[in-house]
Amino acid sequence: MTPSLIALGKTQKKKTDRTTALIIAAKVIISPEGGGIPEIQIFQNHLREYKIVVDTYGSRDRDIIFKGAVDSTRKLNLLHHAGHFNVIGSLRAAFACDYYCQDCYIPFFKKMSTGVEKPVNHVNRHQNVQRSKIK
Ligand SMILES: [Zn+2]
Repeated sequence: MTPSLIALGKTQKKKTDRTTALIIAAKVIISPEGGGIPEIQIFQNHLREYKIVVDTYGSRDRDIIFKGAVDSTRKLNLLHHAGHFNVIGSLRAAFACDYYCQDCYIPFFKKMSTGVEKPVNHVNRHQNVQRSKIK
């Protein structure tokens, strides 16, 4: 066994198997140089129950390089950095913010300058829109 394979934990191994299964199921061909947005689009075509959103590294908001044309509340957030696409486990951690609106792709901070919408007001606004749609 090569040292790199020994270094992989059990969880990592499982992820690798699942990733391989996904690559096969989605019929994505990834060259040795790696994949890019065209390959992400193929994954999106396969994963219709998730909306894939790709952000660039170092940006705090709106630097989105891919947004899947899927109407789903379930999101798969990826961060593109140094030629790799990493899954974002926590948007708050990834964007170092207190709240992140996944509908508007806006980070919110507890210490916001005056005149900027507060997170609670933002959430309420979304809920009011939802309520008016139901009526
Ligand atoms: Zn929003």
